[in-house]
Amino acid sequence: MASWQAHFISFLLRTTFKPRLAKALEATQARRLLESGAAHKVPDDLDVQPGEVAGIPGEWVVRHGTTPRANLLHLHGGGYFACSARTHRPYTCFFAAQGFRVFAPNYRLAPEHPFPAAIDDAQRVYLSLVEALGGARSLVVTGDSAGGGLALALMQRLREAGQPMPAAIALFSPWTDLATTGRSAVENEASCSMFVSEAIRRGAAGYLGDVDPLHPHASPLYADMRGLPPMLVHAAEREAMRDDSTRLVERARAAGVEVDFRLWPVVHHDWQMFQPFIPEARESLKIASAFLHERVAPAATPGATGSTTANDAPAPHTARVAAPDVEVCIVGSGFSGLGMAIQLERAGIGSFRVLEQAGEIGGTWRDNTYPGCACDIPSHLYSLSFAPKTDWSRMYPTQPEIRAYLHDCVARFGLANRIRLNTRLEQAAYDEASGLWKVQTSDGSFSARFVIGAIGGLHRPAIPALPGIETFAGPTFHSARWDHGLDLSGKQVAVIGTGASAIQFVPQIAPRVAGLDLYQRTAPWVLPKPNRPIGAREQWALRHVPLFRTLCRWRLYWRQELFAFGFTVKPQLLDRAKKMGLRLLRRQVPSDALRAKLTPTYQPGCKRILISNDYFPTLAQPHVKLVTAGIREVRPHGVVTDDGVEHRADVIIYGTGFQATDTLGPLRVTGRDGVRLDEAWRGGMHAYYGTTVPGFPNFFMISGPNTGLGHNSVIFMFEAQISYVLDCIKTMRRRGLHTLEVRAHVEADHNEAVQRRLLRTVWSTGCRSWYLDAHGRNVTLWPGFTFDYWRRMRRVDWRAYRTQGTRAPRSAPA
Ligand SMILES: Cc1cc2nc3c(=O)[nH]c(=O)nc-3n(C[C@H](O)[C@H](O)[C@H](O)COP(=O)(O)OP(=O)(O)OC[C@H]3O[C@@H](n4cnc5c(N)ncnc54)[C@H](O)[C@@H]3O)c2cc1C
Repeated sequence: MASWQAHFISFLLRTTFKPRLAKALEATQARRLLESGAAHKVPDDLDVQPGEVAGIPGEWVVRHGTTPRANLLHLHGGGYFACSARTHRPYTCFFAAQGFRVFAPNYRLAPEHPFPAAIDDAQRVYLSLVEALGGARSLVVTGDSAGGGLALALMQRLREAGQPMPAAIALFSPWTDLATTGRSAVENEASCSMFVSEAIRRGAAGYLGDVDPLHPHASPLYADMRGLPPMLVHAAEREAMRDDSTRLVERARAAGVEVDFRLWPVVHHDWQMFQPFIPEARESLKIASAFLHERVAPAATPGATGSTTANDAPAPHTARVAAPDVEVCIVGSGFSGLGMAIQLERAGIGSFRVLEQAGEIGGTWRDNTYPGCACDIPSHLYSLSFAPKTDWSRMYPTQPEIRAYLHDCVARFGLANRIRLNTRLEQAAYDEASGLWKVQTSDGSFSARFVIGAIGGLHRPAIPALPGIETFAGPTFHSARWDHGLDLSGKQVAVIGTGASAIQFVPQIAPRVAGLDLYQRTAPWVLPKPNRPIGAREQWALRHVPLFRTLCRWRLYWRQELFAFGFTVKPQLLDRAKKMGLRLLRRQVPSDALRAKLTPTYQPGCKRILISNDYFPTLAQPHVKLVTAGIREVRPHGVVTDDGVEHRADVIIYGTGFQATDTLGPLRVTGRDGVRLDEAWRGGMHAYYGTTVPGFPNFFMISGPNTGLGHNSVIFMFEAQISYVLDCIKTMRRRGLHTLEVRAHVEADHNEAVQRRLLRTVWSTGCRSWYLDAHGRNVTLWPGFTFDYWRRMRRVDWRAYRTQGTRAPRSAPA
């Protein structure tokens, strides 16, 4: 039986408030109406204080004289255009009385600040709280009406960014469908005490602006519900937004989310706002409090009794200083790991170890031994500036030359005894008690203060799952695992893929084989390769005239960098590249039909531009066939394409590239609170300038997310990261700091900015490339000029980091 108060207030609202709200066409009018009469009497035992979290103002509410048992972030309702923490004290005060330390932010309101301002603010506040609390386990999120939708949208954002979820959420009459497609909007129009559906649509339009109402961050009803935290949903049977809840619950349960749902009779939308007057409101909030308390961990700072400001929120973990076995552990001995090792050595930081799982150093340039393997970047640029090589034989280095160069670096800088070959990093786990990393390898364990992941982006071959491949009678291998024992002479060879590797080895093997079928999904843009030899006189000048060497390097750098204009600022500038590519095709491929198949249909640069002088002529040979039909299946002696044709094959070679968007996937790195890197990256890789990750103190990466390039030498980027990491380590040693961890909201802001910039680049013009992950996000490339990256990495901005130790370093200028 519903209480008489519920009946009475529903009736009162339906007859007085609802008609006035329906007529309030201007947001300001409706705002005044919604905020009128919001004067909740704060009980004597509660403290309400204005505060600020991550620069967003709001209110802290706690029960004084007691230690809060957990932390709660409340997102207020008000249709995204009205209300505040103050108007929603019926919620915040109730939860504070139930033992929560509550923060309610005054997120920015529409129409002045349309979507996604509210969600941006909510995320900033949430991440800042998580950071202050040292994790999300003692935090829950609640929201009512629009705030309920906002809380749910926030969960989507967190999941997509791989950021920690709260222990549980509670939603009261949440507004989850801004497209207003639920039946209840029509069926309950008369019975609802608050809204006519037209008023709901008006509110949605003001918040959405030009954004599609089905956008899952605006209408989280349409989002993927998998992986959301336990959820309580309370809604009213007779409200117009009833189906925003019923459908949400249905979808969330289908996605495996734990949901506690209740539909209340008689009461109106967001009735908990009347908790001093309606028993059902207090009952609903009590049930929610119990639900949240059951799932949340106790507050992280039992000592901070009655604290009411963000600054008083739980302090980060307090590690004791302990002496590690080695200061620095570098994982990987490719260009980036060796470059880091050289700079540590030169800086006099002698306590480091390089782990290499293989029996030889060299990374990419050790693994890729296929015929014709070479670099697409000029030799002088594709080498470490602090370890120059002056006797490159040609403008573009071949794999044996680069491999020899890396061996030479090891010898030149005396690194051999620092490198542990055949030693695989099995797991690195951060130990909060000691502030050190416990490094477990295939050859024993040790502790290190810093771990630097330098395992590269292109080391895990991507092999397509071709139906029937297990039935194939002949040998198969990937270009990065070339089978040199297999003589291809006289064989009928199938090559799958037309990427950077295939266009290098196909011209090399074609003269030996009886026949070669090259399976192409998308035609690459191919430009001529100006690969002249470097003569003895030029080598002499490079060796003996440092200025000449520097100028050479800079000339090549700026020539490559010009492409960044076209890739990131004005794709039209790539017309010249297009013309060059088409001219090469016309010159080298006489057959119209073959040329048509080899002509790309997307912007140059959207996929990596390739360079070759012998690729097209090879394809024009009679025993080489370009197959553009999709592969249907593999049979014991051939490959069947979608057109039903079976192409005979004795050998299959995969030129299908690498799993570039999940580079650290197999690496087991466990940070604070036992969170694994692969878990933190479930929604896609992300890091602060590709180098540091929140929750992983003293962990760095070289060649991490969004530091790859489509136009210039990645060695330039590696060097920027190496000097950044070195600066961090040196400053920490100088200042007596023992841990450093990037702030979660700083990293989140950085990544959002990177993703926004990427949307305006050639890589977002619609082609399917290995730069994009399964969600279509570009997690591999830096979105601008390399000198811009270098400029940003030149000095460490210490404001981006939480540090621990004796003294905090001064902030460097941004
Ligand atoms: C065929 C090919 C051509 C390329 N051409 C170009 C080019 O033209 N221009 C360009 O800029 N880039 C090019 N690249 C990209 C190239 O990968 C980078 O330029 C660079 O070499 C990467 O260096 P790295 O040290 O970061 O990684 P890698 O060279 O991949 O080295 C990583 C090392 O980490 C080791 N490792 C991995 N996991 C573990 C573990 N758990 N424990 C211990 N050791 C581990 C690996 O064995 C490896 O030795 C090319 C890549 C390939 C494959």
